[in-house]
Amino acid sequence: MRGLYIGRFQPYHLGHQVVLQKIAQEVDEIVVGIGSAQESHTQENPFTAGERVTMIAGALKDLEATCYVIPLEDVARNAVWVSHVRAMIPSFEVVYSNNPLVVRLFTEAGVAVKRPPMYKREIYSGTRIREMMLSGANWEGLVPEPVAAAIKEIDGVDRLRTVGKDDGG
Ligand code: NAP
Repeated sequence: MRGLYIGRFQPYHLGHQVVLQKIAQEVDEIVVGIGSAQESHTQENPFTAGERVTMIAGALKDLEATCYVIPLEDVARNAVWVSHVRAMIPSFEVVYSNNPLVVRLFTEAGVAVKRPPMYKREIYSGTRIREMMLSGANWEGLVPEPVAAAIKEIDGVDRLRTVGKDDGG
């Protein structure tokens, strides 16, 4: 059986990793869909789809299940999003998500949806990690080592600080 796990992964962190480890015990193969793939260089979405692929692929090396990491651009019409996703990735039998819109759209399309509990949400959150990057706090321990290395390689913290500044106009 193949499962789909969708997120923006800005950045991918240890909370996502624990969820994926649990999903790997339930399915043979996992498709990790990188949502909002067209977005980058903003405070909410600092990293490109390609950078997120690199981060996640490095972190998934130890996982038991076979994983496909596939960027998914948003589309302007929610009503056709599930068809768009289906056209871009290998077929899947179950979706793992806690996002109410994602749950609704896949349920209406007749796809089984499971809601995986997030691991230590108060600690592992993409928003919190981006805030820590901006304030100079120690965020590295909250992400898998390959993710920290990839962010350092692209000078990701400096990018986040730069895109957060207004142009003074
Ligand atoms: P998201 O906007 O990335 O995340 C929403 C919130 O849920 C974030 O705070 C996220 O935390 C959190 N979260 C992630 N996994 C969780 C879990 N297992 N338990 C509890 N909270 C969790 O949304 P997403 O659901 O992760 O990703 C959905 C993607 O699908 C987005 O890119 C969205 O744009 C796309 N989408 C597109 C369309 C369209 O194009 N029409 C329609 C529907 C959805 P973290 O920041 O820590 O991950």
